[in-house]
This record gives sequence, structure tokens and C-alpha cells, in this order.
Amino acid sequence: MTQNSLSYALELDQQDPLKVFRERFFFADEALIYLDGNSLGRLPLASQERAKELIAQEWGERLIRSWGDGWMEMPVKVGGKLAGLVGAKAHEVLIAESTSVNLYKLAMAALKHKKGRRKIITDNMNFPSDIYILQGIVETLSDGHTIEVIPSPDDIHGPTQAILDSIDEDTALVTLSHTVFKSGFVYDMKKITQRAHEMGAMVLWDLSHSVGSVLVELNAAKADMAIGCTYKYLNGGPGAPAFLYIREDLHAVLDNPISGWWGQKNMFGLDLDYDPEQDLRRFQTGTAPILQVALIEIGVDLLLEAGMEKLREKSVKQTEYLIALWEEQLKPLGYRLNTPADAAQRGSHISLGHDEGLRINKALIERYQIIPDFRAPDNIRLGIAPLYTSYEDVYRCMQVMREIIEMKVYEDYSTEVPLVT
Ligand SMILES: *Cc1c(COP(=O)(O)O)cnc(C)c1O
Repeated sequence: MTQNSLSYALELDQQDPLKVFRERFFFADEALIYLDGNSLGRLPLASQERAKELIAQEWGERLIRSWGDGWMEMPVKVGGKLAGLVGAKAHEVLIAESTSVNLYKLAMAALKHKKGRRKIITDNMNFPSDIYILQGIVETLSDGHTIEVIPSPDDIHGPTQAILDSIDEDTALVTLSHTVFKSGFVYDMKKITQRAHEMGAMVLWDLSHSVGSVLVELNAAKADMAIGCTYKYLNGGPGAPAFLYIREDLHAVLDNPISGWWGQKNMFGLDLDYDPEQDLRRFQTGTAPILQVALIEIGVDLLLEAGMEKLREKSVKQTEYLIALWEEQLKPLGYRLNTPADAAQRGSHISLGHDEGLRINKALIERYQIIPDFRAPDNIRLGIAPLYTSYEDVYRCMQVMREIIEMKVYEDYSTEVPLVT
């Protein structure tokens, strides 16, 4: 049977040991093919039920008593479960704020801890917000810090060797996206962390595109700090707060620059002098958005139940399948693989570039009900969320992308850039 056939894709779905998990998600429209779980994960059915219970009982009936019935501990408890997805100890992960704000907190804490060192290293594949946060920090501190943004050699792979060479005795912090958002390249966490430690620098990993998609071993890599999203592969819902990780021996050493009452020892003592907790709770600031934190737990439970090793295995198989179809069907039509060809170096999304990328993306969404996303200049990002993406989804998308070029369907769409891509 040729790989380029619907029956082959259906056979792969039939054999998929994780296929039952697709039924745990809400499908408003069975015809819609969703390949954007790396930007906003689907809605788990259990989250619908949990949201009703949160509103009706926990908030509606129990009112303020719910804080004593588990709300207070929720950011710590859900963080503890999430730790199981990133190779950390339960007390090393906390749910708090957005990824951007957590980056601010942890980068500020690291720069204070490494006072005297001036260099911050990152790369030009990092998420722009991460760089904006660093620029704001440098300006606020006004202490001579510099940001070295190391360029990728090919806009696909991370500049690993140049980063290793750049880490020196003036380096305070290295901060990178572990899986980069455009190409899906995945850094060798252990290698970079080790080099940073040899030179006395700290490392802060952004796991937004890694958590729930690749195997992350924070403890094994001796990582200092990490942050990441919960609304992508974790299916926590739009705007769900982020997580932060700090290795246990650094808990009492690093200071939260936004020192609020939720980090205070005996917070209801209402003492006017800040005296923080000795554990990770010191990195809490204010009241957590409980309705959203509770929904993160549902998403994390689903991933834990499926198992990260099995999810990663399926994700690799699906990205290999997509790449094989690209090679046979799409490459001759001008589509470029903007993602590492080596499975060990890529996450769970594939970027296909095309000179007509923007118009192809519009046609996919508007004509065919296939939802990827578009990242300038030419990347059509196809996110594979192994909990619910089927081989049939991948197969159909590849067929349509071929048709859009062969039948010149893209010519029906304008080159105007929409507000949200
Ligand atoms: C999605 C994403 C973010 C999002 O940050 P927010 O503060 O939640 O908006 C940050 N970093 C990376 C690498 C991301 O992919």
C-alpha cells in the first residue's frame, strides 16, 4: 500500500495506541482539521464539566470558603503534577502569571544573583516577547548589561556552537526557547546548561513549545530555571497562566523581584515587612486566576495518563509521516521544509515554507477548513498534537496543500496580512 493514500492513513490511525484520547476532546465540527494545537490547544471534554462545577459550586455556592477547600494550594498542586511532564520534582514547579511575566521574574532574579556579570545570551530564533522582556530588564536595571542575540546559521537550526563559544566569565544568563517557535528546532538542554555552569552562568529555558510535545528532563540536565505556556500542548485554555520551574537548591537563594503577599511567609499575618517563604512559593506574587488554574489540571492529567514517552513516539511518527508526504508530493511544487529533518532535533510542529505561504494559509482556512497558522516570512506551521491529531488529518492537509498549488487556488486570496496569523 502506498503511503500516499487515505487507506494508509486510516490504517495508521487504527494501529495508534493513543487513538482513544481523541475522543476525550470536544469537536464542534468533525470536518474541521485543526493543526494549531501548538498555539491554542483543543478543549478537553472534562474541562467543560469542570468549568461548570467551578462556576456553579465552588464559586456560586461555596463562595469564599472555597479558598480553604483547595483553592489556596491549587497553583502549587497543579505545578506539582506538571513537574511530571518536564522531569522535575513536584515542589520545583509552580503555576503563576504569564510566560512573559515569569521570564521577567526569573531573569531579574538571576541577574541579581549573578551581580557583576553583564552579559545575557539568547538567539534570534527566540520568541520576540522573550527578547522584549530582556530589553526592558536591561533598561530598568541600567547597570551596563548587554544582550547578545546570536543568529541562526540557516533560520532552521539553533546556533548551538556559537552559543557555547560565547558563554564566558562575564555571562550572567543564557536564555533560549528549548523548542523554537518558527522552525521547531530543539536545543540540547544538557549541553548548553553544562557549558553555562562551567563558566558560572545560569540558564533559563522557555519550554512553551516543548512541554507536552517533547521529552524534557530538567533535573537530569541540571537546569536552573524554566518557564512555559499551558494553553498550547497542555490544553489549559486561552490565557491560562504559565508555569515556572526553579531547581530546589536555588529556592531560598533567588529573590522574586515582584515580592507580593502570596510569597510571604504566613501571608495572613499581614506583617508589613516582607519575609518570603523559603520554598518556591516565594515566586508567587498575587492571587492566582483559579478558574484557569483548575482547567490546566485537566489538560495535564490527560497528558500524564497518555504518558510523555508514548506521546513523543507518536509525535515523531506523525512528523516523519508528514515529511515523507511533503518530500513526495509537495517539494516538487515549491514547498520547503523549514524544520530540522532529523527527528531528534525537532519538536511537534512542522514549518513548510512557500513563496505563496500567506495566501496558501488563507486558502487552507477559508476554503478547506484546515487550520494551521502562519509565521512570517513564509512559514505555514503545522502543529501536531499527538493527543488528538490523527494521521488522517495529516494526510488530508498534505493533499489540500498540493491542490492549492496545482489548481492555483491561492490566486483567489489577497496578499494582505491579517491582524492575527
Ligand atoms: C507562546 C509563547 C509565549 C507566550 O507568552 P505569553 O506571556 O503567554 O503571551 C512565550 N514564549 C514562547 C517561546 C512561546 O512560544
